[in-house]
Amino acid sequence: MTILASRRHLLGVVLMLAMVGCGPVLTPSPVSPGAPTRIAAVTSAPSLAPARVTATTEVTVPPTEEAAPTATAKPSPEPIPQDTPAIAPRDEEMIRPTAVFEVEDDQALALVNGTLIDGTGADPLPNAAVVIQGGRIVAVGQESEVGIPGPARVIDVQGATMLPGFINAHVHQGFDGQKLAAWAQGGVTTVRDLGAYPTEDLFDRRDAFLKDNQYARLVAAGPLMTVPDGYPINPWGVKALTVTSPEDAASKTGQLLDAGADVIKIALDSGAIFNTDIPVLTAEEAAAIVEVAHRRGRLVSAHVTTTQDLKRALDAGVDDMAHMVTDFLPAHRIQGMLEGDVYWVPTLELWRRVGYFERRAVSNLGRFVEAGGQVALGTDYAGYNAVFDLGMPITEIELMQKAGMTPMQIIVAGTKNAAAVCNLDHELGTLEAGKIADVLIVDGDPLADIHALMQVRMVIHNGVVIRDEGGKD
Ligand SMILES: [Zn+2]
Repeated sequence: MTILASRRHLLGVVLMLAMVGCGPVLTPSPVSPGAPTRIAAVTSAPSLAPARVTATTEVTVPPTEEAAPTATAKPSPEPIPQDTPAIAPRDEEMIRPTAVFEVEDDQALALVNGTLIDGTGADPLPNAAVVIQGGRIVAVGQESEVGIPGPARVIDVQGATMLPGFINAHVHQGFDGQKLAAWAQGGVTTVRDLGAYPTEDLFDRRDAFLKDNQYARLVAAGPLMTVPDGYPINPWGVKALTVTSPEDAASKTGQLLDAGADVIKIALDSGAIFNTDIPVLTAEEAAAIVEVAHRRGRLVSAHVTTTQDLKRALDAGVDDMAHMVTDFLPAHRIQGMLEGDVYWVPTLELWRRVGYFERRAVSNLGRFVEAGGQVALGTDYAGYNAVFDLGMPITEIELMQKAGMTPMQIIVAGTKNAAAVCNLDHELGTLEAGKIADVLIVDGDPLADIHALMQVRMVIHNGVVIRDEGGKD
C-alpha cells in the first residue's frame, strides 16, 4: 500500500478496499492444447492485510469476506498466467437462467381478497385475485372477473397487498444456501450475483440452488472481466478474467457464457475515485464484450464509480450501471443514459456502509429519476466488509425514497426493472398471466408506508408457498 498523502487519497484507499468486494477472481488454469478448459480456483488468497488508516476519521477496513477463498475453492499449486482462458463449455440447455419446479400435485392456488400491485406501475387494484398453477400465474385481476378453478386451494389474504417477488440486482456471496434462503424468506425471490469467487463448479452450484424453492433464484455473472493489472487486480493482486485485445475479449466472453454465466460484468474503473490511474478495457475491448454478449442474448453490467467511467460504459453500450457514480453527474450523461435505455442500479446502501459518497449518490439518483431514468434495485450486498440488509433491502429502499423516488417507483425498481437487468422480464417482475409465480404478500399498504414491505405475510416462489405467517385458509 502506498503512503497516504491526503484525505482524498484516504477516501480512495477505503473505497478501493470496498470495491475489492466487487472484484471476483478468476484465475485461469494451465491449458493443454486441445484439452477441455475449466474455471479454476485462484493460486492464493488476495493479499489484503487489514488496513488501519488514521486521518480525520479512523477507519479500519479488514479484508472483505468475498475476497477470501471459499471452502470449496481449490488453490492451484503454481502460478498461472492471467491471460489464459480457462472455462469449460456447457450444453446450451444448462445455460437456462431460470428453473420452474411444479407444485407436486399441481393443484391450483387462488389468492383472493387482496390488493394487487402488479409491478408494472399501474394503480393498485383492490379486491383482486391471483390464480397460480404449475408454478405460473394463470389468471390475475378483479376477483369478480377472475375464474377460480373448482378444485383450487383458496387462500383469503384478508386485504393484504400482493406484489411480485422482489429482486436484488446487485449482490455478492449469493452462492450460499443460508443467504439465498434468508432472501427468499424476506420476499426477495431472485438475486443477481455480480461477482463470485470462481471455482470449477461455480455454475453447477448455481444450478443446484435453482432446484430448491427455499432458495432465492440465483442469477450469476461469475468473475469480472477486466485487463491485466486492471481493477480489481490493481492494486491488490486479485486476479480476474483478463483480456488483451478486442479479439481476446470476444473470445473470452464467449467462453464465460459457455461456462454458464447468466450475465457479463465488466470493470471500467479507471481509478479516478482512488485519485490514481488504473488500466482499463479499451473502447474496442469493451465493445467487443458487449457485442458478443448481446449476440448471444445476454446483458452486460458495468462497474463504474465516476462519470469518466460512466462515459466509457455508455460508449461500450452496456445495459446497466452497477453503482451510482460518486462525483457530480452532469445532465448530458443523464441524457446518455436515457438515450441508451440504460438502467441504473444505484447501490446506495454500499455508499452508506462505506461512509462516504452517500449524499452525492442520493442527489445524483434524484436528478436521474427526475429526468425519467430507469432504476433497478440493487445494494452490492457483501461488496464491502460491513453488515448489509439480508432479505428485503430496506436501507437501500429508504435511501431511494430520500432521493425522491415514490413508493411505486421503488416497487417497480425492485420488481419489473430488476427483472429486466436480470434479462428475465419475460418471466418475472410483474404479476401477469403466464409469468413465473413469485409473489410477496405483505400486511399494510406499501404505497402509504414503504416499510410495509417488511411485514411479510406470505411468500410464494415458483408457485410454492415457502413462508406463511397467517394467511389461514
Ligand atoms: Zn459489487
